[in-house]
Amino acid sequence: MGGREATMVLLDENGIRCDGRKVDEPRRIMIRAGGLKNADGSAYIEFGDNKILVGVFGPRDVHPKHMANTDTGILRVRYHMEPFSVGERKNPAPSRREIEISKVIKEALEPAVMLDKFPRTAVDVFIEVLQADGGTRCAALTAASVALADAGIPMRDMVAAIAAGKVADTVILDVNNEEDQAGQADMPMGYMPNIGKITLLQLDGVLTPEEYKKCIEVGIDGCKKVYELQKQALNDKYFGNRD
Ligand code: UDP
Repeated sequence: MGGREATMVLLDENGIRCDGRKVDEPRRIMIRAGGLKNADGSAYIEFGDNKILVGVFGPRDVHPKHMANTDTGILRVRYHMEPFSVGERKNPAPSRREIEISKVIKEALEPAVMLDKFPRTAVDVFIEVLQADGGTRCAALTAASVALADAGIPMRDMVAAIAAGKVADTVILDVNNEEDQAGQADMPMGYMPNIGKITLLQLDGVLTPEEYKKCIEVGIDGCKKVYELQKQALNDKYFGNRD
């Protein structure tokens, strides 16, 4: 964070970002519900240049059995980046970063899923990042919510996610890879718009209290836009002419 800003124009004199967007403009987002016939639910998302596929299985028996909880179902999440998903080949072994992201996505989804309705079972969420370009955890969380809904898992709401951030002392929406590397702050956020609850909030970088408040506002507005696309994806599959 902050290292390369001097050599890179992240925001020009007209308020245009390095990829041509305005400060409050998200990247192009395309979400498709379904698509994997062997999964109970699935979704595919393109979020700028991020491309991510999610498969959901369950509720199903828990193996190993000792992990089962007699009072509630459990949610398990595996976030995995393909070695070819980034410029410099990623080692296929699970990294600390993938373990961390799996954990934060699981914790962000748990308040949305009615796990108490199916005790002793597990719902497994497999996330495959095919192409990464900054913001994969938000894109993955967004797609995972759609895949869970596609699997027919009872939910209180879907979690929509996007990052707010700061470049050139300006608050922006939807931080791309260059902005993440050279900018001043990256704040991924997951939000349930119907319930009005934030379930993911991380911050890499430094913000003033005013900037922090602005990032929350901008991030919530962005999540609401993402939410409309999530609902549209489910509508297209279940009420449109798609398979
Ligand atoms: N990245 C990479 N190699 C890696 C891990 C990450 O090139 O081994 C890139 C990738 O484009 C990713 C970005 O760095 O989207 C930012 O990663 P971060 O850990 O901030 O998570 P993300 O923004 O993807 O949620």
